[in-house]
Amino acid sequence: MSPSTPSRPTCRCGHDRYHHFARPSFKNGVGAWVAFFTGVSATPKEIAFACARCGETFEVTREPAVLRAYRRYPDISVDRP
Ligand SMILES: [Zn+2]
Repeated sequence: MSPSTPSRPTCRCGHDRYHHFARPSFKNGVGAWVAFFTGVSATPKEIAFACARCGETFEVTREPAVLRAYRRYPDISVDRP
């Protein structure tokens, strides 16, 4: 394994966070939802990626770069109350 290409976590079927089977779930609480609907900037604190095929949650990340990227993700699914 090359050190320049760090491996990402995958589920049991081998999908990583960039596969279309991956379903990001934003963990940011009710206050962030209010901010979301009022247009205030709300970057999620944490994202959990689960596979839509096997259902396994294979990665939970708080990397700022990932959070920013998925904040604009067009096909998000969010844990609603
Ligand atoms: Zn899977």
